Amino acid sequence: MKRETVPLVEFLKETKGSILILTHENPDGDALGSAMALYLFLKKKGKDVTVGCKDRIPHFLDFIPHSEEVVSLPDGRFYDIGIIVDSAGFYRAGTEVKVAKRIRIDHHVGGEFYGRYDYIDPKAPATASLIYELISAWDEFEIDKDIATCIYAGLATDTGFFRYSNTNEYTFELAKKLVHWGADPNYVYRMFAERESLGKMKLISKVLETLTLYEDGLVAGITIFDRFFKETGTEYSDSEGLVNYPRSLEGVEVAFALIEKPDEGIWKVSLRSKVNVDVSKIAERLGGGGHKYASGAKIEASSYQEALDKLLSEIHKQLELQKIVS
Ligand code: 5GP
Ligand code: MN
Repeated sequence: MKRETVPLVEFLKETKGSILILTHENPDGDALGSAMALYLFLKKKGKDVTVGCKDRIPHFLDFIPHSEEVVSLPDGRFYDIGIIVDSAGFYRAGTEVKVAKRIRIDHHVGGEFYGRYDYIDPKAPATASLIYELISAWDEFEIDKDIATCIYAGLATDTGFFRYSNTNEYTFELAKKLVHWGADPNYVYRMFAERESLGKMKLISKVLETLTLYEDGLVAGITIFDRFFKETGTEYSDSEGLVNYPRSLEGVEVAFALIEKPDEGIWKVSLRSKVNVDVSKIAERLGGGGHKYASGAKIEASSYQEALDKLLSEIHKQLELQKIVS
């Protein structure tokens, strides 16, 4: 990926307005890492900047430098500029956002466009790499250990710690620079992967009991009922990553996790694929979105069976369209 002139950089250099940087609801490492890196950088540049999110920062992300400065949204304030990161649109904030101008920095395919200051590149391995490009087009020397750690956390998590198909020469080149500026790969890995609670292990055990194969083993799914969280003393953010269990099975092309969200009256689905199936198409037909290999949606259904049927029928349709089943 070639560094280009980023119109957003010139705009941000000039502005004296108030800026709100926000992530999607239930933030992941790329969303929060990207938001915090941009926030810390703009603060260094003397900008009037706030970072906000609808949800509380989950335990697995609480090591991200300065994450305690994230403001809970909605905060009642009106901002001149809103910059949403790692999200297909402002609707992904999951809350009302009061900003005069909307800007999006993201690496999802499609989504909403707000104008010439959007910085969107679906080929970027992570939104965090776009934040790096933006910062380096402005002033690379401002990248300190905290900013490097935020960008590294986003890059590492969205590439499955440098294992997914978005891992390439560029990814490693960027990782090398970030380590040079002070990011510690072992520290970030330990923070993400080696701070689980006993409750989370018990949750995994319950969830694995629900593992079911469909379509002659091409599809595997798990279900996370709300009572599982209550029974194990865990919460929604503990479901992050569990969809990798069904994906890890040999022969599986599409994996899903169906998560009950009674507070919103919906079922959240996480979809993953390996090599062939474009799960973003399935998610889009369910009203969501994402990437070819990782996407998600919210399914409105009055029962578990109805949600599952809707999901399985859309998965089947995609397998047919791609001539994987007839
Ligand atoms: P996850 O399954 O980890 O929640 O999300 C995987 C990918 O799908 C992420 O890139 C995420 O942004 C996207 N995604 C997840 N849920 C939704 C949703 O409800 N709507 C849209 N548009 N994208 C989603
Ligand atoms: Mn991302």
